[in-house]
Amino acid sequence: MKPVITYIVIPCYNEEDVLPETIKRFGELFRLMLSSGLISDKSRIVCVDDGSKDRTWEIITDYSTRIKYLNGIKLAHNAGHQNALLAGLMTVKDKADCCISIDADLQDDIYAIPMFIEKFNSGYDVVYGVRSKRDTDSKFKRGTAVFFYKFLKFLGVDVVFNHADYRLMSKRALNALADFKEVNLFLRGLVPLVGFKSTEVQYERNERFAGESKYPLKKMLALALDGITSLSITPIRFVTLMGFVFSIISIFAALYGVISYFFGATVGWSSTIVSIWLIGGIQLLALGLIGEYVGKIYKEVKNRPRYIVEDFYTGERNLYE
Ligand code: UDP
Ligand code: MG
Repeated sequence: MKPVITYIVIPCYNEEDVLPETIKRFGELFRLMLSSGLISDKSRIVCVDDGSKDRTWEIITDYSTRIKYLNGIKLAHNAGHQNALLAGLMTVKDKADCCISIDADLQDDIYAIPMFIEKFNSGYDVVYGVRSKRDTDSKFKRGTAVFFYKFLKFLGVDVVFNHADYRLMSKRALNALADFKEVNLFLRGLVPLVGFKSTEVQYERNERFAGESKYPLKKMLALALDGITSLSITPIRFVTLMGFVFSIISIFAALYGVISYFFGATVGWSSTIVSIWLIGGIQLLALGLIGEYVGKIYKEVKNRPRYIVEDFYTGERNLYE
């Protein structure tokens, strides 16, 4: 097999605690793959600094100056994990045969990468890294993740179970992904939409090597919401269905009221209040839900850039100097 030009793209946000170790371990793997002839010497590891506030960019440029196969991309501000990943992939895709995306924190087993490339060599355009077990995640994270996958499936969204953003994509799959212009980005839902021949590789997920998760609950919920609203309008259909069901119920309630009137009974104020609050609550909920989609449309229409690249550092020269 001809050696493959592989670019490994690593989004990094405030990762000064893990980066030196990450670069070291990826370096070991990289040299192994080079010497076995699996990858070409045109391959690169590209760290994308997602507007970090710590020494992340200094570490990246410092190592890149000394290590030939290491490059850095600096984003002008914190664009978020999904956008940072996209920035990396879109910047390098034309130079590579395939790109692999992986987190900086060494949670994902990097030794699955040679298997990814072997799958690419046997004709797959997309290779999904799938966690064989999740016992290193907290019970809460595991529980919510399973619920989220099931919910997405229920809404008719095609996602790969237990796959996050550890995957390989061929150049042509990335070129197809480039045509998806949406601002509301949820890559693991988009990639299956891109299509092409795909397969899975199982790997074990470890603890974060150092530092803290850059995905606090708030960001996690935002990502989940983006996932749902960018891929499905079924929630709005539920609002319609709910309206329909309540209309039917109200017809029966009206009939009941009229009949009771003729039998001399009156409807008490408590039931009136309860039904007003109930329907009022549901209306607000429905309005909020629709508002969520309107907000997303607003963002899409403005069509602002999803990321801004400030610098692309290859060690030899700084393109913006
Ligand atoms: N990350 C990023 N921008 C952000 C948040 C996170 O580039 O705004 C990167 C982070 O550096 C890491 C990856 O996204 O490489 C996943 O984040 P993390 O490991 O903290 O998430 P978790 O594994 O806890 O879900
Ligand atoms: Mg992590």
